[in-house]
Amino acid sequence: MTVSDQNRKAVVVGHPIAHSRSPLIHRHWLAELGIAGAYDRRDVRPEDLEGFVRAMAGEGIAGANLTIPHKELVMAMVGQIDPEARAVGAANTIWFDEAGTLRATNTDVHGFLANLDERAPGWDAGGKTAMVFGAGGAARAVVFGLLSRGFEQVLIHNRSAERIAGLRDAFGAAVESAGAAREALAAADLVVNATSLGMHGAAAWTMPLDGLSPAAVVCDLVYVPLRTRLLELAEARGNRTVDGLGMLLHQAAPAFQRFFGQKPRVTESLRQRIVADLERGA
Ligand code: NDP
Repeated sequence: MTVSDQNRKAVVVGHPIAHSRSPLIHRHWLAELGIAGAYDRRDVRPEDLEGFVRAMAGEGIAGANLTIPHKELVMAMVGQIDPEARAVGAANTIWFDEAGTLRATNTDVHGFLANLDERAPGWDAGGKTAMVFGAGGAARAVVFGLLSRGFEQVLIHNRSAERIAGLRDAFGAAVESAGAAREALAAADLVVNATSLGMHGAAAWTMPLDGLSPAAVVCDLVYVPLRTRLLELAEARGNRTVDGLGMLLHQAAPAFQRFFGQKPRVTESLRQRIVADLERGA
């Protein structure tokens, strides 16, 4: 498929999708860069995803972001999958390249790393042990990102043990089960919540941070609410913290560039726009 540079169309696809802030982010950049494109949300049930992907070219859709529950499903529907998406086992961005080939990538890895680089400079300069809560799709992107930055040990704490074993199979011996949380927290230079615990509407975060090293950076991928219980606990101990909104913004940037051909900027004014929207609960 070829589409003209102007009037390109992209969408975010999920089920449900009404909560997605992606249109707000991409439309902000379209306006800022003066691009006459469009970015909409589309509610697509899992059983309709393949039909959507097949129809993209005919509908003139240059690319799509995928969210729950499509990130893993879409992998079987795209011919060219880049190494990051393949290693993570999930894709959040598909697009037609210049030759008209539909391709898939995972920009959550970039989003996760760029957020920490921006909000906690030097976070990966010292020790190289991380503790990650969770073993789902987001945790896989986190582990891939940490290993790419030279982390030597990633301790996983997760409700179901089989998923920890799955991460170890995928990423190798640097990934271990965290065992006793207190000891893992004491060893960690970075702590990441990649579960849905603490998210609005999900179960609460109840884990104490006893033993956490004072030098550790604590990052929550949850961004609704922005200031989660985990971040409050870490701040009360004097640790540096990073919320999940920056990951959302930074994962969108490389997707936008693939859809619309220009590199957008993640700015404080964009962040404040999304913060205001989250506060309105829209
Ligand atoms: P998945 O459904 O793939 O994984 C969910 C994870 O949360 C699993 O580890 C699961 O454990 C754990 N979990 C869920 N409920 C409970 C519970 N009651 N008690 C203990 N553990 C629980 O989701 P994702 O990996 O895609 O997303 C995880 C989080 O990351 C979400 O909150 C999501 O919003 C956020 N996220 C944020 C992004 C950002 O840009 N900031 C990007 C992507 C995700 P188990 O394996 O035992 O089921």
